[in-house]
Amino acid sequence: MPKDTKPTLTPQITARLVEVVGTKAVSTSLSDLDFYSADALDRIRAFSAAHLLETMPDVVVTPESTDQVAAVVRIANEEKIPIVPYGAGTGVMGAAVSINGGIVLNMARMNRILDVSPDNMTATVQAGVILGDLDRELQRQGLMLGHDPWSVPIASVGGAIGTNGVGYRARKYGPMGKQVVALEVVLPNGSVIRTLPVAKVAGPSLKDLFPGAEGVFGVVTEATLRVFAQPEERQFRSYSFPSFEDGFAAVQELTRLGIRPALMDLSEEWGRGTDQNSNEAHEISLTLVFEGFSEGVAAESSRTQQVCIANNGEDQGEHPAQQHWEFRHQMAYRYKERLQRQSGRYRRERGWGQLMDYLHVSLPASQVVDFYRWSKDIIAERGLGLYEASIWGDSELFSLMFGDPSENDPTGQLPRTSDEILMKAQDLGGSMEYCHGVGVKLLHLMEREWGAGGQVMQALKGSLDPANIMNPGKLGL
Ligand SMILES: Cc1cc2nc3c(=O)[nH]c(=O)nc-3n(C[C@H](O)[C@H](O)[C@H](O)COP(=O)(O)OP(=O)(O)OC[C@H]3O[C@@H](n4cnc5c(N)ncnc54)[C@H](O)[C@@H]3O)c2cc1C
Repeated sequence: MPKDTKPTLTPQITARLVEVVGTKAVSTSLSDLDFYSADALDRIRAFSAAHLLETMPDVVVTPESTDQVAAVVRIANEEKIPIVPYGAGTGVMGAAVSINGGIVLNMARMNRILDVSPDNMTATVQAGVILGDLDRELQRQGLMLGHDPWSVPIASVGGAIGTNGVGYRARKYGPMGKQVVALEVVLPNGSVIRTLPVAKVAGPSLKDLFPGAEGVFGVVTEATLRVFAQPEERQFRSYSFPSFEDGFAAVQELTRLGIRPALMDLSEEWGRGTDQNSNEAHEISLTLVFEGFSEGVAAESSRTQQVCIANNGEDQGEHPAQQHWEFRHQMAYRYKERLQRQSGRYRRERGWGQLMDYLHVSLPASQVVDFYRWSKDIIAERGLGLYEASIWGDSELFSLMFGDPSENDPTGQLPRTSDEILMKAQDLGGSMEYCHGVGVKLLHLMEREWGAGGQVMQALKGSLDPANIMNPGKLGL
């Protein structure tokens, strides 16, 4: 939807919205418009997309039922007003930012847990439920969620589906999309579809159109998620390695053997300001958490010990992994506190306030070591500092955190280097982002990412949403 053709929200349209959801659920107050204008992407990290964060929605609508969502979407479709689903606004790529104004559909009141079925091993919830709230309820019933991102205490089920996020237990249970059994979705014309709540269906799986779609194909109103029994046993193991290559060889061998700890994090960390080409003052550690039935945990853990030692690993005991596990949600609690105090403008302008970037690319496993070496060299060549290189979950999922140690990047090397690294991943047959989505930050690389598949996506978008009202522009659609 080009900006100059953006329809305005007239008082008549606002009145129609009020009729559907009630006065209290429609807000045009400046403070609400400001709050819902931002997610967790700040201008500093948005780089060339920073200008897109300047935009504001025209109205915030907070429905409480699928019927209300459907009615609001029908109005948006008839009036050709952009509509952006907003989960908890913790996305770090700007996917929930209303770059064309219009309606923010705040899902916060759709926060009911509708059913927990220990027999089916599923939970059915409204999309605005916070992951941590759902997990707490499941724990009471001897169950747990498989999706466990850092942001578990603050992110919503709908947002985790919209971004197809990756969490701490992804090695064992997969990304969020893999845990979706069925969805109820309001399509851009306001009709409601429900996919079947079973493990496998005849024909292509319709529910798989929505994870990672950033709300462009419809609003997820309810989700049936796979849930898991709380483990009989949990074991923590930590190993250090003399090189990233040794650690990666161990990870590859675990993959070959089919060993799937819940958490697997191979991480090489440098203190800020240290020389990443020196072998000193930095650590390469493999953090593992095994969980499940006792005999399975014992067998996986003991074979892992052999694999790590055979690849020059040194056993560091339980403690580092246990600490990692216990503190894994701390950053989200800190963010939650800030969120309660900060306006949208503050989050957008100041955000984390650090001149750094973190990239999460997925690559054929055979390319990971060369890519790691290449990235390290290019970051050093550009005078930037590499803070962390890691494998999170699967051998194919490689992350980098780097920045300008002087914190001012006068020559703009950081955005250029980020793009170069992301394009290199694409050129090697990989994807530029496996964890956080595209949002506005990576829009400029999306055509490259899609390749010819982009035409298929455009055709799907065009037929489902001919007026282009659902989160228009996102994913480059
Ligand atoms: C401190 C911190 C730690 C984080 N750690 C992780 C991590 O470990 N792993 C990870 O994957 N991410 C992480 N994130 C990013 C973020 O939490 C995830 O992307 C999360 O899934 C977003 O959920 P949300 O509810 O905040 O979604 P939002 O940011 O509100 O929305 C994200 C996208 O989903 C769409 N959307 C939201 N609700 C719906 C719906 N009902 N129907 C259709 N589309 C919808 C939005 O339009 C938008 O495109 C972290 C963020 C922070 C701030």
